Amino acid sequence: MQQEEAIVIGAGPCGLAAAIELERVGLHPLIIEKRNIVHSISQYPTYMHFFSSPELLEIGGIPFTTANDKPSRLEALNYYRTAAQRNRLRIQPYTAITGIRKAEDGFLLTGEDRFGQACAYRSRYVVIATGYFDHPNELSIPGEQMDKVSHFFRESHPYVGMKVAIIGGSNSAIDAALELERVGAYVTVVYRGEQYSSSIKPWVRPGFESKVAKGAISMLFRSVVTSIGHHDITIRGPEGEFLIPNDFVLALTGFHPDRNFLTLSGVTMEAEGYPTFHEESMETNVPGIYLAGVVASRHEANEIFIESGRFHGQKIAEHIGKIRGQSANGC
Ligand SMILES: Cc1cc2nc3c(=O)[nH]c(=O)nc-3n(C[C@H](O)[C@H](O)[C@H](O)COP(=O)(O)OP(=O)(O)OC[C@H]3O[C@@H](n4cnc5c(N)ncnc54)[C@H](O)[C@@H]3O)c2cc1C
Repeated sequence: MQQEEAIVIGAGPCGLAAAIELERVGLHPLIIEKRNIVHSISQYPTYMHFFSSPELLEIGGIPFTTANDKPSRLEALNYYRTAAQRNRLRIQPYTAITGIRKAEDGFLLTGEDRFGQACAYRSRYVVIATGYFDHPNELSIPGEQMDKVSHFFRESHPYVGMKVAIIGGSNSAIDAALELERVGAYVTVVYRGEQYSSSIKPWVRPGFESKVAKGAISMLFRSVVTSIGHHDITIRGPEGEFLIPNDFVLALTGFHPDRNFLTLSGVTMEAEGYPTFHEESMETNVPGIYLAGVVASRHEANEIFIESGRFHGQKIAEHIGKIRGQSANGC
């Protein structure tokens, strides 16, 4: 069985950042990724631009410069790919970890490759950086499982001339609405909030509000979709329930981290929905298991971004570096 000193699960920006920091304290971690480098970002809307400026997305101190003031998805893919290659990070792609348990002198990680072949690794330290993007927040309403419903928006072309309901009021919902309206889709945004979310990119909001004012996009506040049919959806708003014709639903309602194997490996959950971990080291209540990135956030909150999660690796590396230093000195 493959024996490692440190394994990072997930090659998102925060997992890559953690691996670079671990390299700097003398470990050569193996990153195990169920798809490929920065898989989540590769699934983001094709033409999106980040809300962060490039220097706030940098990892390992490697400069990220872009043509415009906000990086595109393609520029970010290129940046993180290059950062991994230049640092010669060891990445085992297309391998999903499904279990972690305590073993002699560390942990036993089990999983499978993309052909369903079982694999196992032993490691002294484990950094979990599995993000949240594979687990959208479900609506739990009738019709949600229909093919016309998606929790992900990639491109507008498939929706030309279609009646599309977008559920949500975040940047993802606003960006998708604008892109869809541009190609001639009939867009209704259904948002449970009282007013526009304060997180909407300030340079995008005026354009969106102007589309709403002109009637090009229909914006419903204090409203929720209560059921989805083949040709319509039911909405409950301040004036009661009503039906609108509909071809597609984009439920852009956010994501939540899946901490299944975290809890299986003994990491406890706090009442607020956080996994138990020490802020200063990111070590969980299970010594040797660390968290990096979005997986450390509350269950349904987007409180950790690349901007902040990219620094978790430094804390982890510092902590592991100290432990190793102490054992080298015989303490
Ligand atoms: C549309 C959009 C725009 C955004 N814009 C910004 C922005 O401008 N600025 C900003 O700071 N943040 C932004 N964010 C948030 C940011 O992208 C996330 O916070 C970030 O991706 C978190 O990084 P991560 O490394 O924690 O997780 P992820 O990037 O999700 O990476 C986790 C990785 O783990 C892998 N994985 C999961 N489970 C397993 C498993 N069991 N075994 C092996 N591998 C596994 C996944 O395939 C994935 O590659 C945006 C998010 C979205 C959706």
